[in-house]
Amino acid sequence: MQVHTTIQQLRAAIAARKQELRATLLDREPRVGFMPTLGYMHAGHLSLIDRARQECDIVVVSIFVNPLQFGANEDFDKYPRDNERDTRLAAEAGADFVFIPSVQEMYPQYPTKTKVVVNEITDVLCGASRPGHFEGVATVVAKLFNIVQPDRAYFGQKDAQQVAVIEQMVQDLNMPLTVVPCPTLREPDGLAMSSRNVYLSEEERKQALVLSQALKLAEDLTATHAGSITAEELRSRLESHISTAPLAVIDYIDIRTYPSLQPVETLATDQPVLIALAVKFGRTRLIDNTILNRR
Ligand code: AMP
Repeated sequence: MQVHTTIQQLRAAIAARKQELRATLLDREPRVGFMPTLGYMHAGHLSLIDRARQECDIVVVSIFVNPLQFGANEDFDKYPRDNERDTRLAAEAGADFVFIPSVQEMYPQYPTKTKVVVNEITDVLCGASRPGHFEGVATVVAKLFNIVQPDRAYFGQKDAQQVAVIEQMVQDLNMPLTVVPCPTLREPDGLAMSSRNVYLSEEERKQALVLSQALKLAEDLTATHAGSITAEELRSRLESHISTAPLAVIDYIDIRTYPSLQPVETLATDQPVLIALAVKFGRTRLIDNTILNRR
C-alpha cells in the first residue's frame, strides 16, 4: 500500500496502477473505489474499505480533517487524529492508496473561492444545526472526486443526510460515478461507531445508548402502529425515551422522507422515511438514524 500527500503524486500513482491492471483486465477498464474520511478509523470505516475492496480493482482512501466543514466553535482543532494507526488499518482492510493531504495542499487559498452549494436538503437536520457544514462537505468531496476520479464512492448511512447531499451533487453536476451507501456499524451494545465516541466520559458513554434504543423503539412502533401513530406522536415518544438519560441534550429528533428530506405527517407511507437524531452529551454531539420502508 502506498501513502501519498500530494495531489500530483496520488494522480500519477493511480494512473500507473491503472496502466498495470489494463494488461490483466483485458475486457474492461480498472474500477476505482474511493472512500473519503476524516480519519481516526474504526470498524465502520473499515467496513467501507472492505466493501470497496470486494467491488473494485483499486481502492483509495483519503484522510483529511477538512476545516471547511467545521463551524467556528466546533472541534476542528481537537478532532482525534492518528495517521500512523489509520494507515496500518487501511492497509489491513485492503486499501491500495491512502491520501493524506495537508490543508495547504487541498486549499492553497483558504477559504477556497469556489464552493459547492446543495440547496434545500441542507437547510434541515444537521444543516440547520451546523450552518455551512454541508457546503464544506460537498466542496471537499467534489475536489476529492476530481483528484481521485473514482468509479464508485463509498459513504456510511450513519451520515444519511451526507449521502443525500452527495447523491444530489453527483446527479446535478453529472459526475461520472456511483455513490454506494453502506450500513451503519454499531458497538455490540448498539451505539453507532463514531470517531467522536472517544470524547465520551464513562457515564456519557452509558447514557448514549438511548439513541440506538430510541431508533429501535421507532422501528418497533412503526412496525405495529404505522397506520395509527402520527409522526409527531412518534417524535414525542422518542423524545420521552431520550430524556430518560439525564445527560442527554436533544439537538433534533426529526422524521422525514428520504432522500428528499421533506417533513412527513404519517408513517403509513410506502416512501422511505428517515428517523434522525442528534443529541449532545456534554460537549460531544452524536448523530444516529434509521431508514424505514427501505426498498
Ligand atoms: P468520517 O471519517 O466520520 O467522515 O467517516 C468516513 C465515512 O465513514 C463516512 O462515509 C461515514 O458515513 C462512514 N462511517 C462513519 N461511521 C460509520 C459507521 N458506524 N458505520 C459505517 N460507516 C460509518
